[in-house]
Amino acid sequence: MTRSLASVADGLRFRTSAWIDGEFVPATSGRTYTSENPATGRPLAEIAEGGAEDVDRAVRAARRAFDDGAWSNASPSERKRTLIRFADLIDAHRDELAATETLDAGKPIADVRALDIPDTAATIRWHAEAIDKLYDQVAPTGPSAVAMIVREPAGVVGAVIPWNYPAQMAAWKLGPALATGNSVVIKPAAQTALSLLRIAELAGEAGLPAGVLNVVPGPGDVVGVAIARHPDIDVVAFTGSTEVGRSFLHHSADTNLKRVVLELGGKSPQVVMADAPPLDAIAPKILDAIFWNMGENCSAGSRLIVHRSRRKELVERLVAAATQEWLVGDPMEDETRIGPMITRGHLERVLGYIEAGRRDGARLVAGGRRVLEDSGGHFLAPTIFDDATNDMRIAQEEIFGPVLTVIPFDTEAEAVAIANDTPYGLAASLYTENLRTAHRMARALRAGTVGVNAYSEGDLSTPFGGYKQSGFGGHDKSVHAHDQYTELKTIWIDMTEAEA
Ligand code: NAD
Repeated sequence: MTRSLASVADGLRFRTSAWIDGEFVPATSGRTYTSENPATGRPLAEIAEGGAEDVDRAVRAARRAFDDGAWSNASPSERKRTLIRFADLIDAHRDELAATETLDAGKPIADVRALDIPDTAATIRWHAEAIDKLYDQVAPTGPSAVAMIVREPAGVVGAVIPWNYPAQMAAWKLGPALATGNSVVIKPAAQTALSLLRIAELAGEAGLPAGVLNVVPGPGDVVGVAIARHPDIDVVAFTGSTEVGRSFLHHSADTNLKRVVLELGGKSPQVVMADAPPLDAIAPKILDAIFWNMGENCSAGSRLIVHRSRRKELVERLVAAATQEWLVGDPMEDETRIGPMITRGHLERVLGYIEAGRRDGARLVAGGRRVLEDSGGHFLAPTIFDDATNDMRIAQEEIFGPVLTVIPFDTEAEAVAIANDTPYGLAASLYTENLRTAHRMARALRAGTVGVNAYSEGDLSTPFGGYKQSGFGGHDKSVHAHDQYTELKTIWIDMTEAEA
């Protein structure tokens, strides 16, 4: 850790109350819960434990703000100016936010400083810059009518987000929802509320009117459910597990039919064809795809589907790099590439999958065990299973940890069939030097994003969403994300002269 970052970390003062109607407030119940540092297992902060009454308070503030129009009726260029100030403030507080995120979520500081926090600011800025360049439409009527097709903000947006990219996932919701004029009530994951609470305060400093952005921390089965069922929320955007995502559809159906947008889990394939680029070039990309962010990544490339002719050499390279280059350690140290799992419970869950892989007959060739136990943190060595088949649990279920499952194939048709044979369809990577193969297979892979000769989620200009049980109802990023936060209205104006 650099000296300047160490002094930032030492001086951190966490925001731990809910952010409602432009100010920090305790939970109505007065209750708090303890958030821990996953690298030490020790308490980090006492955070306001929101309840249904706090969601209600936040929704009332959000609705009032929406109705008074200071934000919802502001001109797009005014909203743009405020959101760009907001993005600039996030950039200006990069070290503080990065240190907060690393201590709270265990994510390696080098990644958080270089990617998560800059991307959080860039996301807000991208949507801000887009908003005064999008035109509405006039329908092709004759002169007897003028028909305008206009986009209007949906109203009050609820958002519920996970712990793996706390700041970034918040920005993926806030960027498009705020740019299009909505008010928002957002719930961070209970484990990782700290960066978002500070980011909300920065939004206030940037001039976002009180009540437009509200943050209610607390448990998913209380605060998340209260958002999902609230009768005065118009749209709910959820990122998290498929199981919890599914419950949002039930809640919507049982209450006010709010629009539901779900970004869910994955079991993404990385397909290496016989004519893939040189293995030296692709091995680092393959490992990035599974070990980046400890594999706690919805689009992690957790299944390596490799042509039998390249398997042995590729696996040897991957094992060498996994053990020599993917350093497990204190996430506050710059050279660390793998920090702790988010909680002890999650570590146990991942170890359970490793046990299942062994039992089902896959061959463990790297990792597979807990490390750095003396730290009190939840560390796991990067793990590779070779010679697996796609029916094994480690090939079918989302592990959400640094565990790669290698599955060999012989023909292109077999590779596509294996790649598509899961309930998920979030992302896929494909390695081939043949352009025809690349086009043909990119179409055949049932996934929302297909990276060719790259592990990629695209950039801010490309939509991100899932096929099959990886998503529902919309996308994050790009102008396509604006659709889910807006209503489409037709205004039909009769131009015929009234008869006297
Ligand atoms: P999770 O589903 O347990 O929790 C996500 C959020 O929902 C948290 O804020 C949590 O408090 C809340 N929640 C939990 N139970 C709830 C309930 N019963 N009702 C309402 N809300 C509830 O997921 P997680 O463990 O935080 O995150 C990991 C999951 O998120 C993985 O499945 C991962 O693939 C997915 N994810 C998807 C994307 C994407 O864009 N597709 C991005 C990141 C993570």
